[in-house]
Amino acid sequence: MSEARVALKKYFGYDTFRPMQEEIIEAVLDKKDCLVLMPTGGGKSITFQLPALIRDGLTIVVSPLIALMKDQVDGLASAGISAAYLNSSLSGIQQNDIENKTLAGEIKLLYVSPEKLVSESFYHFLQKLEVNLFAIDEAHCISQWGHNFRPEYTKLKFLKHYYPDIPIIALTATADKITARDILKQLRLEKPEYFISSFDRKNISLNVTSGTNRFEKILAFINNRQGESGIIYCLSRKSTEQIATKLKTKGVDAAFYHAGMSSEARSKIQTSFINDNTKIICATIAFGMGIDKSNVRFVLHYNMPKNIEGYYQEIGRAGRDGLKSDTLMFYSYRDVMVYRDFIEQADDNKNKPIEIAKLQRMQEFAEAQTCRRKMLLSYFGEHLPEDCGNCDVCKNPPQQFDGTLIAQKALSAVYRLGERVGMSLLIDVLRGSGRREIFDRGYDKIKTYGAGRDVSYNDWQQIIMQLLNQGLIEIAYDQNHVLKLTQASKDVLFSNKKVKLVKSSEIKRKKEERLQKAKPVSKTQMLRGELFEQLRAKRKELASQAGVPPYVIFNDATLEELSERKPTSKDDLIGISGIGEHKRNKYGDIFIAEIIKFMKEKDAEGQKIQGATYVITYQYYKEGLTVDDIAIKRNLKPVTIFSHLANAYTNGKDIDIFSLVSQSELDRVGQAVKELGEIEGVKPIFEHLNQEIDYGKIRLALSYFDKI
Ligand code: ADP
Ligand code: ZN
Repeated sequence: MSEARVALKKYFGYDTFRPMQEEIIEAVLDKKDCLVLMPTGGGKSITFQLPALIRDGLTIVVSPLIALMKDQVDGLASAGISAAYLNSSLSGIQQNDIENKTLAGEIKLLYVSPEKLVSESFYHFLQKLEVNLFAIDEAHCISQWGHNFRPEYTKLKFLKHYYPDIPIIALTATADKITARDILKQLRLEKPEYFISSFDRKNISLNVTSGTNRFEKILAFINNRQGESGIIYCLSRKSTEQIATKLKTKGVDAAFYHAGMSSEARSKIQTSFINDNTKIICATIAFGMGIDKSNVRFVLHYNMPKNIEGYYQEIGRAGRDGLKSDTLMFYSYRDVMVYRDFIEQADDNKNKPIEIAKLQRMQEFAEAQTCRRKMLLSYFGEHLPEDCGNCDVCKNPPQQFDGTLIAQKALSAVYRLGERVGMSLLIDVLRGSGRREIFDRGYDKIKTYGAGRDVSYNDWQQIIMQLLNQGLIEIAYDQNHVLKLTQASKDVLFSNKKVKLVKSSEIKRKKEERLQKAKPVSKTQMLRGELFEQLRAKRKELASQAGVPPYVIFNDATLEELSERKPTSKDDLIGISGIGEHKRNKYGDIFIAEIIKFMKEKDAEGQKIQGATYVITYQYYKEGLTVDDIAIKRNLKPVTIFSHLANAYTNGKDIDIFSLVSQSELDRVGQAVKELGEIEGVKPIFEHLNQEIDYGKIRLALSYFDKI
């Protein structure tokens, strides 16, 4: 096994890497500069944390937010990794202390703010250290193109100049290629290894529904997910307050958050959410950046976001732990109008056309009749080969027809027109229009001129929209919105790949139907088992004692696995994902005790728990009860208790065979086995020994012989 894999298990408790993690780690260990584009929850942190643990020296991590640094450091500490942060929230004394620890080589990862990193005092400090890597987290903050530009980040351009020999890994969850290129340029990374992972977040369901009766729909949605954390994004500050208040009158545990609140009030709400004290936050989009909470189970959009980048980022706050999570967006044309006015009315907005175009794509997404995920990913230049099966359109599909031929006509026209025309001119060419421009440019000479005469203009529009949504055409916003072919469209043109389209009359009908549907909620049963809840409560208790968010102790996925597999020994814990050595030692016994307590309670109530019955017997045995005592307590026959103990012994539990079976009994069973040869089963032995030794004892003796 590679060193990285051993460390993955030891520190983080995971058996396998997520896609790309291993390649990235290898590149980092090779001292290459790296740019990593990976969605939220993809597992970026481990790609610099593991190398930091494996290599000698110090890894410096640049992070934009103070709260985020603290969370990450807490998380690492809980895995037994020595990390620290330096930022303005610490006193001079505290900073000194951390610096001294770092100089003494006691720190493997040091989180700093960008200002700090490029400050002169820090330069001198770094001279005394052996730095093996700079990790720039949330690297899109360096780009003006990015959605979260932070001027302090531009200082990082000097890193390569000051420290040409120290490799840099820049990480971001942006899927936007322009921003990515800008990051490289800004950071002066010349020949970086480029890692772009899929931006598909399969565990997040995508649902869009009409904006009528929003509040009732929200209530129904939340009631299906009691006890789970979620965010409701709203457009205005006022509506965050109104919705939260309304929810509270319905008994829902909700709070609001927006940039108009004092920073203390905001950080209080944020902390309460992270610590699972407040379950639901109604917020403007100011909320979310810098929240590492892995168990956000749903994200609702009370209003349609104004572009797909924002939408993707916001829904991405759900399900970082990889567990099933749901999103629901309300769509109404009014929202579109509000944004449009807003954009149009801004006086000196150079980006107007781009913003309008982006808004349009968002609207198209909301109105999509084809797999929403395909469409979402195609916006980021990624082509999904199959429909996702986890969006409302996939679950409730409109009628389709084979549109290969008609798609080929359109794509071929795009191709023959040199990928230089926009949608309306394309349709005119397809419909053989006599528009002057067409003749002037000689477009009437191309083979597909008039090839789509039989389809109405409106229908063509619908079809081209669908091709766009399926990633078969792209709009070049920066080149007058001309249409371009994609890799996928070439398969349609040249390899006759089939295209499915939706009938346009169908589009209208389905839309009506869907708008009328009151219950958008996916059928997932979010309510979890009793043991899960018990473990969750224990986690919460431990978290507040330690002053860290609950998911830092174990994430939801680990809790789920614990409640399903019900490990009852430290060895059993090794097989549970997300429990490394440190956490096993620190929390293992506590959670095992909780599981055993649960099993005993259930047993006492006469409930059966799969695979657990011998474990309960074993527990009583360990408490010093005799076989007969246990039999009475559990309302079972002693022979059954013996066979439980035999089973426990076979499974490696610590059982003193000799206190249950005498040496002479063991010898007699041994003798009988020899005499009977290959005969299977307990009964022949029982008979052979004239029924003088109990069945249960024979069983125990047999499991003893099996082991020696
Ligand atoms: P990102 O920074 O890309 O948003 P994180 O690094 O926070 O993602 O990881 C998201 C979640 O996935 C965390 O709970 C993390 O512990 C978990 N995770 C990371 N790598 C693995 C892995 N190889 N196996 C299982 N879980 C993982
Ligand atoms: Zn789908």
